[in-house]
Amino acid sequence: MIALSQVEKSFDGHRVVGPISLEIAAKATMVLIGPSGCGKSTLLKLMLGLLRPDGGGIEVGGSPLEDHDLGRYRHSLGYVVQQGGLFPHMTARQNATLMAGQLGWEAGRIAARLDALLALTKLKPDLIDRYPAELSGGQRQRVGLVRALFLDPDLLLLDEPLGALDPLIRFELQNDLKEIFDSLHKTVVLVTHDMGEARFFADTIVLLKDGRIAQTGSFEELVDSPQDPFVSRFIEAQRAPA
Ligand code: ADP
Ligand code: MG
Repeated sequence: MIALSQVEKSFDGHRVVGPISLEIAAKATMVLIGPSGCGKSTLLKLMLGLLRPDGGGIEVGGSPLEDHDLGRYRHSLGYVVQQGGLFPHMTARQNATLMAGQLGWEAGRIAARLDALLALTKLKPDLIDRYPAELSGGQRQRVGLVRALFLDPDLLLLDEPLGALDPLIRFELQNDLKEIFDSLHKTVVLVTHDMGEARFFADTIVLLKDGRIAQTGSFEELVDSPQDPFVSRFIEAQRAPA
């Protein structure tokens, strides 16, 4: 579906991603994990076409990303930004329905889609006319998810969607998200820095170190056959204290 081949990205002459080669399989959940600053968000933005690689290439559906109509490509993706990324001056409803409105959807179609997604994401309908500042962190993330799912994208990219939530809310939203991924059969790329979360969601875990792939595999493969001492260190550092 999306294939990265020897992709590189530098900022100010400093390489923060790559070279990375990676294939995202359809209808599976891939989790990108690694320490803060290792290039996870940058990698996601490269996949989204928000950043252009300095080297290597990205193919979508078998043809180079630069040959695609970027506007249409983005509409085929759902993106949940790190820290929610809702527009503060717009209500939850306006945030969620913005793109559908711009695409000229009729009011009835927008309302029906919104109802369905509120039910799916377990967001109380009476919250939908509030501004982001009037919602809890978990509610804001649910609105972000409604917005990302609105156009029924094939691919969902989520950048630390649960990073800023307290443990109980996080646990609840993890379960709800997993249910949603499983029921919709979407292709999902989820970024986290938490190995427990990676294990919970992933068909495949991609562990990054300094912008490169340290190891790809299931949680069990990373634990049982680490390909680099960093892999074991990263997993051990996240072990719950005895
Ligand atoms: P992560 O999401 O894994 O925490 P990022 O992809 O956000 O990491 O960042 C990787 C590195 O690239 C960091 O050192 C960050 O400071 C740097 N970086 C990210 N975006 C930019 C940018 N637009 N300009 C300059 N440096 C950037
Ligand atoms: Mg990040």
